Amino acid sequence: MLTLACYVAGKPVTSSQTLAVKNPYDGSTVGEVLVASRGDTELAINAARGFHATPTRYQRSAILDAARQKLETRREEFARLITSESGLCLRETRYEVGRALDVLRFASIESLRDDGQSFACDVSPQGKARRIFTTREPLGCAACITPFNHPLNQVAHKIAPAIAAGTPVILKPSEKTPLTAIRFAELLYEAGLPGPMLSLLLGPVKDIAEPLVEDPHVELISFTGSVNVGKRIASHAGYKKVVLELGGNDPLIVLEDADLDLAVTLAAEGSYRNSGQRCTAVKRILVHEKIEVEFTRRLVEKTREYVCGNPADEATRVGTVIDEQAAIYLDTVVKEAVAAGARVLAGGDRRGALFPPTVITNVPRDCRMVDCESFGPLAPILTIRDLGDAIETANGTAFGLSSGIVTRSLESALRAVRELKCGTVNVNEVPGFRVENSPFGGIKDSGLGIKEGVIEAMKCFSYVKTFSLPW
Ligand code: NAP
Repeated sequence: MLTLACYVAGKPVTSSQTLAVKNPYDGSTVGEVLVASRGDTELAINAARGFHATPTRYQRSAILDAARQKLETRREEFARLITSESGLCLRETRYEVGRALDVLRFASIESLRDDGQSFACDVSPQGKARRIFTTREPLGCAACITPFNHPLNQVAHKIAPAIAAGTPVILKPSEKTPLTAIRFAELLYEAGLPGPMLSLLLGPVKDIAEPLVEDPHVELISFTGSVNVGKRIASHAGYKKVVLELGGNDPLIVLEDADLDLAVTLAAEGSYRNSGQRCTAVKRILVHEKIEVEFTRRLVEKTREYVCGNPADEATRVGTVIDEQAAIYLDTVVKEAVAAGARVLAGGDRRGALFPPTVITNVPRDCRMVDCESFGPLAPILTIRDLGDAIETANGTAFGLSSGIVTRSLESALRAVRELKCGTVNVNEVPGFRVENSPFGGIKDSGLGIKEGVIEAMKCFSYVKTFSLPW
């Protein structure tokens, strides 16, 4: 059995406490982790704060590039590890490793970029013969807390920009998928990352996550996860930077003039990829009433292509959700919707942690399945009268992460861009489309409008110092 340990400043912890990691598909034990203690949390914070030998830009770029090359040679090993601890199928986990390689590549490039600006000062009657310059300085210590749904990429999206910015970080990954995170940390140490620049801690929330959130020496909390935990962090963090990337309830709007084949493909990909466990998965399909019957018929047919089963089988396109409890929740919200008048046209039959791609029609707008975030491969179809109705419905939940609209009309697309209250609007694409260095993040309950993506995250992991000189 795989036994891994948490790390404090590059050194594995010794502990008698272990965390067992189970395969969600068959319940077998994938591995165990020697967990950290409250004392380790303090040691990690002190090690980060006491580290002043920040690598140069060139060295940071070289470390990130070496990590990318090492990951490239171990792509399949990482994909299989993610599959075994998350239940995501190999098609998805191979894709995820590809995304993490992009994150490392972009972070390596960005760490070389000159980030300074300069301002002439003889530009106003109050001015002088001086010049103002800016430079970005690393933070002393940042803490990152990540969710289970992309065990590698969520971690890469925090750690790589922090390294690129020169900021020491303490990572608290999800207890559901810790093995991938630990293997990734080890890979970074092997690539030359100085130990004090990264600690990785797992253990009870009161010993690890809460002290990290509350410690005044931690200058930034970068959190990705659920709304409840995010809001709790916001209320406990005190005087520090807080980045919150929270849940979503993203709509895909399909207008009367849509290319139906494209709309059906986007609906299926958006709803079912990553077992529907993406913050930007399509969680509501808002279809114009005039095309709803044909759209639904084609989506039911398309859904048959998404074979649900053993995540380690090459033919599988939808593995499990994260655990049986998560699948039971999906079952419950589907049954609630059916009791309120909805109809299940495909899927819906849970087996353990497997929940197959499920098409549900006649979904009332106020049922839990579409009002709250359903983290699984559900495709609920809601009927809309026109674009105005679609926008009002799309904006009608507490969330504001991303969105997609399928239309041939430029006018409709532009109106959607203007009026949808969310962080991203993708035209003729799924809400989840992005590249790893573009700005990404939501508003309302989905986040505070502070973006991530490699470039924006590097800004979070640093502060701007201004200096001026006679000129
Ligand atoms: P979660 O339950 O909020 O957990 C996320 C992380 O927070 C885990 O590491 C968890 O540790 C930790 N945590 C739990 N209680 C905490 C506390 N009191 N203080 C500090 N940290 C605490 O989320 P999840 O179920 O893993 O992930 C799914 C959610 O993430 C969904 O809502 C999804 O939409 C969201 N998400 C958002 C984005 C985005 O970019 N907006 C991206 C991906 C996912 P344990 O593992 O020990 O519980």
